[in-house]
Amino acid sequence: MSKFSGDHRCAHVPGHLPTVAPAASCEMCGTAENRRLCLTCGHVGCCDSLGAHAKAHAEATGHWVITALPMSRLSFVWCYKCDDYVIGPIDHPAVVAAATA
Ligand SMILES: [Zn+2]
Ligand SMILES: [Zn+2]
Ligand SMILES: [Zn+2]
Repeated sequence: MSKFSGDHRCAHVPGHLPTVAPAASCEMCGTAENRRLCLTCGHVGCCDSLGAHAKAHAEATGHWVITALPMSRLSFVWCYKCDDYVIGPIDHPAVVAAATA
């Protein structure tokens, strides 16, 4: 699972990224490992191999699309609804800025 970006474009990717700075740790369990950012609201959860809080957030809110932190142009974008890597808004100015910060 080293694929960075899918070739699948899905309807769940939000048109605008959250503008809040992402939390330094999972908002639900506090781990700083393998953080996943909700691209809809900016919630930070952890990956499925830890507490699966990113997935829990997606299922609770319908915010299906996440990316890995720290965000970069190489970060994968995953849709929990499609259960696949998808084409994300990686050319969004916020992503580019984060990648070059
Ligand atoms: Zn967690
Ligand atoms: Zn969210
Ligand atoms: Zn999707």
